[in-house]
Amino acid sequence: MRPAQEFGDNPVAVRQTGHYTEEYVPSFVEKWDSLIDWQKREESEGNFFVDLLRKRGVKSVLDVATGTGFHSVRLLAAGFETVSADGSAEMLSKAFANGMQDGHVMRVVQADWRWLNRDVHGEYDAIVCLGNSFTHLFAERDRRKALAEFYAMLKHDGILVLDQRNYDAILDDGYTSKHKYYYCGEDVTVEPEYVDDGLCRMRYQFPDESVYHLNMFPLRKEYTRRLMTDVGFQRVDTYGDFQHTYRGAQPDFFVHVAEKE
Ligand code: SAM
Repeated sequence: MRPAQEFGDNPVAVRQTGHYTEEYVPSFVEKWDSLIDWQKREESEGNFFVDLLRKRGVKSVLDVATGTGFHSVRLLAAGFETVSADGSAEMLSKAFANGMQDGHVMRVVQADWRWLNRDVHGEYDAIVCLGNSFTHLFAERDRRKALAEFYAMLKHDGILVLDQRNYDAILDDGYTSKHKYYYCGEDVTVEPEYVDDGLCRMRYQFPDESVYHLNMFPLRKEYTRRLMTDVGFQRVDTYGDFQHTYRGAQPDFFVHVAEKE
């Protein structure tokens, strides 16, 4: 187990797609899961995703960013055939344990999105990539490759549901007037510590004063939508925020629903 996050001497130079596996160290994951407890997250999110998938007649779902399993477990509880993938083995083992606690034996597969078809089999009615995960890809060719892999694993009328933080607000308001997000009231504060067109370095501070970071690529909303249509999705609908407690005039998150047919 890695004891601490490693960003080296110049953290803002860390802009590699593959670095995500170094950032989700177990202590960060544990803390996040214990503070953002699932019940609170469930209350703030409501049935948005389950309703959206049911309305479209979805039966099988591939969760490509399982993380600690929040959405996979909700999907299983709602009766969807769910396969749970993630590139981080640590995340998947936590997800599996979380699933067991809720009475589900999750089908987990370790797979990086860039080579998804190599490691995950089958075709799905829907792919979900949630919790601001797509932002971990730093090179445009990686984003295109990942979306193409998602596209290929969907049935002919399948949908991709992908969310992202509202980076337009962060980029446009500039570094000085950056947003500060409060999860679960005052328990965890999340703020961009450094921002430029190619990096948003987020700082997470917990009540015990411990601090963690994630380096992310600041995806503009229209850019993400364009990439989706570029790889072949016929229609992309984007929803505004529906979840998370935050203070500020702008939505915190966007949810894109991309249709293959
Ligand atoms: N969806 C979960 C949630 O909402 O709690 C987890 C979100 S977490 C911010 C992002 C997840 O994406 C991590 O579990 C990470 O390992 C995974 N991830 C990031 N880049 C990836 C890649 N290239 N391939 C596969 N998984 C990746």
